[in-house]
Amino acid sequence: MSDDRTPLEVTLPEGARCAIAITYDTDMAGGYAPDGICHGRTMPAIKERMLMLCGSAESFCRRIHFFQIGNGLEPTEDVGYLQEVLERGHDLDQHTWSHVPLVTDDLELLDFELRRTNELFAERLGHVSTVLRGPGGYAGGLQGKPENQRAILDNGFRWVSCEYNFRASSDDYMATVAGPAENQPYAYDSGLIEVPIMSLTDRNFFDAIMCNDQEAYREWRVARGHDPVPEGWRKAPWTREDALKRWIEYHLAVAEEVYEQRLLWVICWHPHSHYLHDPENRMLPALLTWAAERPDVIVGTLRDAVEWIEPA
Ligand SMILES: [Zn+2]
Repeated sequence: MSDDRTPLEVTLPEGARCAIAITYDTDMAGGYAPDGICHGRTMPAIKERMLMLCGSAESFCRRIHFFQIGNGLEPTEDVGYLQEVLERGHDLDQHTWSHVPLVTDDLELLDFELRRTNELFAERLGHVSTVLRGPGGYAGGLQGKPENQRAILDNGFRWVSCEYNFRASSDDYMATVAGPAENQPYAYDSGLIEVPIMSLTDRNFFDAIMCNDQEAYREWRVARGHDPVPEGWRKAPWTREDALKRWIEYHLAVAEEVYEQRLLWVICWHPHSHYLHDPENRMLPALLTWAAERPDVIVGTLRDAVEWIEPA
């Protein structure tokens, strides 16, 4: 690894043994789209899902964090659901304008996307984004990309969350429960602070690791991707039967690990993935119940978490 990486100390609030930051990227993911294009023009069923997730967290007196693509905030788009997310006290930040990878070589495009989305956040929501989630996730984050780091800093961000290191298969995904220990925050030489995605994403888990019928996945995506699921949808037909059970087990195992090791754990999920794979919303309450049983566990957002990271 290059040396563009200075590990940073995370100091949790007094009395806390570990902390979980729960974040959701609100994409209409390209992997669920007939045309393969990811965008932020959220369909009504996913808007409802986001507000339901807020309610689920609120029932445990917790807050959650959404990362929103800017093209879904253009003037013709409804942003009432995002206003409601903010009014209810949850966090909202940006995820670029069109889901462009932060590692792109097109620096002009990167600068435009961050700037335009900042403008839309201000105009449509009266809100300033302070933390940036990188579309897709990259092993090694933005190392070796000083100009990209500069463009991000120049658009007002001190923190970015874009490193994602897990390459697991169905046989060994449980080996990644130690992920948080190996993926703690660090500063790039530019001063930009990286807060990696520390455990498997739902897209990675359900649509790759747990996918046992590629053809069923492709057929669904082409015919019905980005549509609401039909009445009575219980699980996605392309995953293993026990995928959701395993997903919950995986998270409770990571939780035990971060509790044992006194760590910060940053989670990256998607409302759309949980809408498809966890229609009854079992994952979030299972994790929040685990946390509620332990008074020394903090659950918050990535905006909360960056306050616990020493400055670069
Ligand atoms: Zn995304």
